[in-house]
Amino acid sequence: MEPDTDPSYFGGDVLKVTIESEDDSHDHYVHRTLLEKKSPYFAALAPFKEGRDNHVMLKEVDNDAFEHIVHWLYTDRFSPSFQDWQYTIIKTYAAADHLMMPRCKNMVLDNLRSKYTRIQADIGDLGLIKRLGYGASIAIAIYVTDQIVYEAITNHTWFFREEDHAFVEDGGEHVLGLMKKLMEKSRLYSLKADGKSRWTNKGHSDPARTKGCIHHEHAEGEKCYLQEAQGTTG
Ligand SMILES: [Zn+2]
Repeated sequence: MEPDTDPSYFGGDVLKVTIESEDDSHDHYVHRTLLEKKSPYFAALAPFKEGRDNHVMLKEVDNDAFEHIVHWLYTDRFSPSFQDWQYTIIKTYAAADHLMMPRCKNMVLDNLRSKYTRIQADIGDLGLIKRLGYGASIAIAIYVTDQIVYEAITNHTWFFREEDHAFVEDGGEHVLGLMKKLMEKSRLYSLKADGKSRWTNKGHSDPARTKGCIHHEHAEGEKCYLQEAQGTTG
């Protein structure tokens, strides 16, 4: 079991973490042992000056995302406000990736999956993932792609917000061409050579409703937190 309430986490120094963006900066105070145990990124800073000074500056991480990560660090779960807007969820995934926290990433993905039963994935999400510097092979991009394709084929709908049109235009892609590309990338569907050129669902279920250890990252031999949860009830 993950020793999240280990008292030794909270006895030592408090690290000041300043999140800097173009316009402003925000300070967060987090117990340093907790940060170093859960984030190899912070553990690696310890021998260096900024680690010793108890003050770390982060420019690559979104401030709202870091707030969610701090909540997660102390509770091993996300706050109730982590359902506001999928962009925050994606940015939190990127922040957890930057801070080298696979367990946190796995939980973000499962959280996203549970939200997408109500908030649909759309192409703008993939645009954001790309703008954050990630390719199509990162787990969250694979999941979002699968979800968009699933919705497009199964429910004959896809979802655009206003800004997504701009993304599509910027990319120089016709919407349908983009959808076709997504479908080719998705592992769930294939274009059936049946003379009708119809995309067909190969019998896969809704990615948002698929339970279990999917799209997760685990170190070798590491137990999935989902298994931990089962273990404690058994
Ligand atoms: Zn897992």
